[in-house]
Amino acid sequence: MIVMKFGGSSVATSAAIARVRSIVSSERRPRVVVVSALGGVTDALLSAVASAEAGDSATALGVVDALRERHRDTARALLAAVPAALLSALDDCWSRAFQRLRGMARTGRATARLRDEVAAVGELASSLLVRSAFEDGGLRTMWVDARRAVATDDRHGAASPLFGPTAERLRWSILPALERGNVPVVGGFVGSTLRGVTTTLGRGGSDLSASLIGACLQAEEIQIWTDVDGLLTADPRVFDRPRPVDALTFGEAGELAHFGAKVLHPAAVDPAASAGIPVRILNSSRPDAPGTLIAGHHHARPGLAALACHRDLAALEVDCPPGTRERVLAELFGECAQAMLPVHLAALADSRISIVAGSGAPLENVTKAIGRRLSLRRRDGLALLAAVGEGLRERGPGEEHAVAPRWSPADVFAALSGISLHLVSRAPGSRHIAFVLSDADLPAATARLHHEFLSAPAWSDCSAAFGVAAAGGAR
Ligand code: ADP
Ligand code: ASP
Ligand code: MG
Repeated sequence: MIVMKFGGSSVATSAAIARVRSIVSSERRPRVVVVSALGGVTDALLSAVASAEAGDSATALGVVDALRERHRDTARALLAAVPAALLSALDDCWSRAFQRLRGMARTGRATARLRDEVAAVGELASSLLVRSAFEDGGLRTMWVDARRAVATDDRHGAASPLFGPTAERLRWSILPALERGNVPVVGGFVGSTLRGVTTTLGRGGSDLSASLIGACLQAEEIQIWTDVDGLLTADPRVFDRPRPVDALTFGEAGELAHFGAKVLHPAAVDPAASAGIPVRILNSSRPDAPGTLIAGHHHARPGLAALACHRDLAALEVDCPPGTRERVLAELFGECAQAMLPVHLAALADSRISIVAGSGAPLENVTKAIGRRLSLRRRDGLALLAAVGEGLRERGPGEEHAVAPRWSPADVFAALSGISLHLVSRAPGSRHIAFVLSDADLPAATARLHHEFLSAPAWSDCSAAFGVAAAGGAR
């Protein structure tokens, strides 16, 4: 059995959904299909929440109206005849969103719980639509309500899945359909607490749903179908000539995802890695391209695997009065936790603490809270670039057999000479070197490292080292 997850761009239009249908139809193994919301829908729903919170119910309801029309138009373009049951199930989704948004506009407040109820509508609607498209194409399917499939804690907006309770739920929500030879179709990103309250797993969380479902059902493979040819050697939005990486270890994939390779949600690596299930990243517009295989075996690529980056970052430099540095550290990280602001890097100098984080509203809140008590400076326009590869990891006891790194951090810094680096992160045992630099220098730094270390495959037959046959058959 395999899990096939299709992201927002893979289900954005009727033509894209038709491609998904043909990919799923041509797969012979039993499969569970996980889908994201149609491309752009989650952004639209969250913008509706923001409008409702600001008391602008006309805009909020207008957004949902447009989404309702978009789903109807997609269904009409896709299906020979649109079943009344589909229209009424979709209408239930939109009515729920309308009702919650009206409530928010009335009170001027969106609780995290209500926000999740609105955000979840995107995946509930897309899974209904995709399921109908499959049926229309002759596949036997079953729609699975994600709220009855994935169990989570109650951290609304960024809930963590609960493995045991999810496995239990899948036993009665998904397994019976698989046993009957049907294709279960479930929305990603969405779950519910043990009390049944709707939650979401955080932006990009459908990858995590797929990995979790795959791990719970002990799938032989988890496929992440997206709009690029695999995990690429660099972010294609920053560098125009990246190439797909043929194979990665879970460790490399996890660090690349953590440092901004958006094609995979960072939390999606863990469930698959713990269960030892290979993950393939594939392009739904070019289903015959080989993609990237992520598996657990230690391979011997001697160089870098890929680069990843985060943009739109800012540094906050806080001055600490003598003897207060540890207390200020605690305060600063306390504020960041409260604002749900991930800190990418932190550095201590004699009487100064610097943190680097996303430059949006949460940093604004931390700046205000800390700025009331201490003097600080903020520097915008920064980026973080990371070079990742097993070849960068120092070998520990018992790992002497591994190929020694062919290059060291010194080579990376030499390749970047003339580019000004503000902070550097290099942890023992990790597979990365990361540095903060001006966003304006990011494309040049990426191009230089790519040219120096990644312009040709460093190890052309890595996939052989993964034992591809054992991982579910070469494609
Ligand atoms: P989906 O909607 O399928 O989940 P995402 O937009 O979440 O797709 O992720 C795919 C996008 O990730 C690509 O279109 C690409 O712009 C971006 N991306 C950033 N870094 C990388 C990388 N190293 N390899 C592949 N894609 C990357
Ligand atoms: N639709 C959600 C988002 O846009 C989840 C996902 O696409 O993975 O974040
Ligand atoms: Mg994604």
